[in-house]
Amino acid sequence: MSTNRSYVLGLLEGDGIGPEIVPATVGVVDAALASVGAAPTDWRPLPMGRSAIDGHGSPIPDTTLEGLASTDGWLMGPHDSAAYPEPWRSRLNPSGTVRKHFQLFANIRPAKSFPGSGAIAEGADLVIVRENTQGFYADRNTFRGTGEYMPTPDVAIASGVFTREAIERNARVAFELAEARGKHVTIVHKANVLQLTTGMFRDVCREVAADHPGVRVDDFHIDAMTVHLVRRARDFDVIVTENMFGDILSDLAGELCGSLGVAPSLNASADRAMAQASHGSAPDIAGQGRANPTAMILSAAMLLEWLAGRHGDDALARAAKAVDAAIAATIADGVLTPDMGGTASTGEFGEAIANRLKG
Ligand code: ATP
Repeated sequence: MSTNRSYVLGLLEGDGIGPEIVPATVGVVDAALASVGAAPTDWRPLPMGRSAIDGHGSPIPDTTLEGLASTDGWLMGPHDSAAYPEPWRSRLNPSGTVRKHFQLFANIRPAKSFPGSGAIAEGADLVIVRENTQGFYADRNTFRGTGEYMPTPDVAIASGVFTREAIERNARVAFELAEARGKHVTIVHKANVLQLTTGMFRDVCREVAADHPGVRVDDFHIDAMTVHLVRRARDFDVIVTENMFGDILSDLAGELCGSLGVAPSLNASADRAMAQASHGSAPDIAGQGRANPTAMILSAAMLLEWLAGRHGDDALARAAKAVDAAIAATIADGVLTPDMGGTASTGEFGEAIANRLKG
């Protein structure tokens, strides 16, 4: 069914390469929606990042959180919070703030190698479902404060938090995804050492597996998993893991599949979703037109797919598929940004994809 509804989408450009890759993504989404006859998006730009500190006194002002609450979903560009002035540098960063505020508990990170993109792991097509709200990331797991403290100048302590509820809701996303894909889930943990925390993570995922008898399940320690990914990424379908392991594994998987610049992600709860590239703000190449917008564009396509499922809107699912196909065809044609071995600028690459959708 096609609803012909116009969706309100928030737009947070952020820092570094954000002001380059986010506008390129908007052009592609507009072209994709037009190509399937869907209503155009009502984009709502909102302040986030270094410019929001200067203009609004916070990298993620309350007005931005209020504005996001009245959207159907949003695109979040990267932030360079390590370069913020204090006190912002020591505080929860913009994406952590937004993920926590809206309880976006599942971070869905596909890694798929495009033929012709120079991927190390040819033929890989997997998705990492990373628990997004707790685990060993100390900035995410306390009501107030960061979960890190220093009793003396020479001793630093960080805490990790694991709850059955958070593990279970994330595992359900992973198994439902596997049902719609290759029917295989790999649980990644370190239960031989972190027995209570990641041991519970493994066990609760195994319990959820019992509701999905058609899905094959295996599990690996995080260290062994890095080896398996490098050696045989093609053998994996859905990987479910805790916050920090998922952050690290998804960078590895993204790079194996071509470049960090092609690794997308969606942060989702049951009723909200945020598209966000897996990579950071890449300050080393910011402002040079060298950034690869693929990850941001694919993240936006994931958001369209998520909206399609939530609102029963087939046109958005078709638009998402059209974006994937247009990117693959553009890359196969040899239009490549420098990280993929080509010479196209961010804008040229985005326009090539949008033009293919228009044509
Ligand atoms: P964060 O901690 O914010 O995730 P990071 O330290 O992981 O950031 P990135 O900003 O992701 O670092 O950059 C890592 C490397 O990957 C840099 O050399 C950067 O130029 C490159 N890179 C990241 N994103 C892109 C992109 N979209 N296009 C091209 N190169 C990129």
